[in-house]
Amino acid sequence: MTMTPPGPASADRTPSSIPPDPTVLPDPADPAVLPDPADPAVPEADLLARLPASTKIALLTGADSWRLPGAPEIGLRSIVTSDGPAGVRGVIKDERSPSTSLPCPSALGATWDPGLVQELAAALGREARSKAVDILLAPTINLMRTPLGGRGFECFAEDPLLTAELAVAYVRGVQSAGVAATVKHFVGNDSETQRWTYDAVIAEHVLRELYLVPFEAAVAGGALAVMAAYNSVNGASMTTSEPLLRGLLKGEWGFDGVVVSDWHAARDTLGTALGGLDLVMPGPDGPWGDRLAAAVAAGTVSEADLDDKVLRLLRLARRVGALVDADSHTSHASHGASTSPAAGPAAGHAGETDGLVDPGLLRRAAAASFVLLRNEAPDGGTPVLPLDPAGLGTITVAGPNAFWPTIQGGGSAGVMPAYQSAPADALREALAGRVTVETAVGCQTWESVPAPPPGSLRDPVTGEPGVRQEFRGSDGALLDGEHRESPSLTWWDSVPSEIGWGKPGTIVVLATFTPAQSGPHLLGASGIGALTLWLDGEIVIREETRVPDDPVEAMTRPGEIRTQAWLEAGVPVSLRLELLPAAAGAGPLGVRLGIVPATDEDALLAEAVAAAARSDATVVVVGSAELTESEGFDRSTLALPGRQDELITAIAAVSPRTIVVVNSGMPVLTPWADEVHAIVYAWLPGQAMGEAVADVLLGVAEPGGRLPVTLPAAEADCPVLEAVPDADGVLRYAEGLLIGYRGYDASGAAPRYPFGHGLGYTTWEYETLDGGGDLAAGDDLQVTVRVRNSGARAGREVVQAYVAGPPGEPGRPVRVLAAFGAAVAGPGDAAEVRLTIPARVFARWDTAAGGWAWPPGRYEVQVGRSARDLRLTAGVRSG
Ligand code: BGC
Repeated sequence: MTMTPPGPASADRTPSSIPPDPTVLPDPADPAVLPDPADPAVPEADLLARLPASTKIALLTGADSWRLPGAPEIGLRSIVTSDGPAGVRGVIKDERSPSTSLPCPSALGATWDPGLVQELAAALGREARSKAVDILLAPTINLMRTPLGGRGFECFAEDPLLTAELAVAYVRGVQSAGVAATVKHFVGNDSETQRWTYDAVIAEHVLRELYLVPFEAAVAGGALAVMAAYNSVNGASMTTSEPLLRGLLKGEWGFDGVVVSDWHAARDTLGTALGGLDLVMPGPDGPWGDRLAAAVAAGTVSEADLDDKVLRLLRLARRVGALVDADSHTSHASHGASTSPAAGPAAGHAGETDGLVDPGLLRRAAAASFVLLRNEAPDGGTPVLPLDPAGLGTITVAGPNAFWPTIQGGGSAGVMPAYQSAPADALREALAGRVTVETAVGCQTWESVPAPPPGSLRDPVTGEPGVRQEFRGSDGALLDGEHRESPSLTWWDSVPSEIGWGKPGTIVVLATFTPAQSGPHLLGASGIGALTLWLDGEIVIREETRVPDDPVEAMTRPGEIRTQAWLEAGVPVSLRLELLPAAAGAGPLGVRLGIVPATDEDALLAEAVAAAARSDATVVVVGSAELTESEGFDRSTLALPGRQDELITAIAAVSPRTIVVVNSGMPVLTPWADEVHAIVYAWLPGQAMGEAVADVLLGVAEPGGRLPVTLPAAEADCPVLEAVPDADGVLRYAEGLLIGYRGYDASGAAPRYPFGHGLGYTTWEYETLDGGGDLAAGDDLQVTVRVRNSGARAGREVVQAYVAGPPGEPGRPVRVLAAFGAAVAGPGDAAEVRLTIPARVFARWDTAAGGWAWPPGRYEVQVGRSARDLRLTAGVRSG
């Protein structure tokens, strides 16, 4: 592809020297994200000059899984990185060091509220600071190209403008806490199948007009780091892509931050060094080190290139406070390996304790992301939601996710939450003393045997709730052991040297389990390698599990071995699980122990239907199970897992009021949509899920969200479904610009619920649209929309403006989202929303000319409540 030719190393550019591009989305006039680094007495270039080549090279590869090496001689302490987009994990995943689990990014996309996203991201940044994290590996700003994409929940939207605006807000928020944000995965990492190797073949205008838009905006918005993806784009792996890294990102866009590899994505020395990569992660091994030193000595990689990378790192270090005493010209040996934050924990805000995000903010944000898709009146009267407890004697709360909600997606975005609330508990609590609440699971959806209820497992050494975890040498000798609360354990670093992939030591978990009921139980043990499970001293199963293709699966879905045993209620049994990690394994080490009573699915379903039949209303909480949506693999179907569709249909047939809450990060099929009274799409809403569901169902909060992704009526309607590379590993983006609602508009297929849809608890009239007329090429367009709250309660309306281009050009979208804003008004009140439609919306990338062009023509601004509910229009003549 033709991109701006690689420019000279841009080491001397500062953000203020970057010429603003007036067409970048969103408004580039917004102030820079971070304050300029505190007037350094010692400029980074001088610090650089004090480093020998060997130290410079050492700085460019991680010290371990998450930390960077320090350089005490210039006062550079170790910089700490950590995932991720919906919570900051820290360098360990450990229940004793919990993290806040925020609403997943698709939920943030559903808020259509950059202000709220910035507020949450700022709180996340402060939590990162409190965990000594300097670089947050977030946000993910790829697009939801296919609804099957395993990491779709980590993305904001299927639309580039919505993604770009939220990306900038997120970056600003995180960086306001003195933590660098890392926009990822640059670029074309929009699905997971063969993600390490596929070559995304994407036309240049499609890259420019869709997939690069959020990155361009985030860079203009001040993002300090960009993560180069695993995949290739148009023939070059993204960690070696000179046109995209050096040419476009650093040259044309003037990015002066750090380009970091996705974990283990840097696989060759010269291509990455010359292509524009600055930092190889993780370490300490990798393709640079001695090999890069040799290349620099041989002149294949210039010293100027090496210095440019180090200078970028030093600038970032300065901005996150990791150049601890550069100004004093002194060195402190402790800084080299230290991980303590120079800046110290960021000042806490109201409601934040122990650095964790304020629970009130989490609850408000989750409710603001919930999308009310449907709200019918059971008897022709008022809509079923919000529920009025006064009119209800008994409510049944059913569905697997009412009890085991999926609050977050799998993979690197997962954190160890401090706490999580289940909808069944929260509804019971909210309705206590007013309504009788019955509960029934209805069906099971787990794929890996779940952990037993807290308290049923005990550490046989201390007797405390939890398990005993041990590392043992090849001779069985105890190397280390401790009490752990969780039976699901993960390690990246800091394990004894005899433990690891291909090493002789074993990981052992010991527990005493006391069953709550008598009957057959399923026992499951997970890990990668040779697993052995003992029950009361006898081996009950011993098997070797498969080594997955993608190392992240070591964390998300390690192989599991299972057996059944009859257990008696109240009679404790002893369990011992041993894992010898596989020689060919990679990624984090982990083991899990699960126990669940073996149940009769038909009986579960019948029980829930019977409860629904005797209740005045039934809330069915369905959705993804723990392994449904994850990094590392794409989904194979949009259908809800297990028998959930059957459960909803059976309940709807007998319940006088059926309310479905969908707990999925991406679209699912809703074949029962017309059978139920209300549907609330609740995404993967983080740890506040239960309270937020109760707030919304009972009308304490409005379900404020609008769909950031189209919900299909059938899989066949999706403009892009599977993302499976061909036999040569090529993934062709053959649909061009027509993803998401653009594809539905092109094919004429009717979505089940369109992009932008969401009812809220009040109704809105669209009264006037002012603006339009003649527009000079390259100018923004201002329009003003007047809406009136025509319902009975206050609410927030997301006013959406689309621009429809001159019709009839093949491959061009019928309309694109051009701007959005919110109106907040009380019952009967009007509100005006001023929208700026950026000039870029009227432009297209001219590949031959290598630049943006504003073709003259007639456009239409269409304003409304969704991509398919457009209420007002105005004509525009451009050029
Ligand atoms: C993911 C990244 C993540 C990194 C570190 C990779 O597998 O693709 O998003 O930041 O691991 O966990």
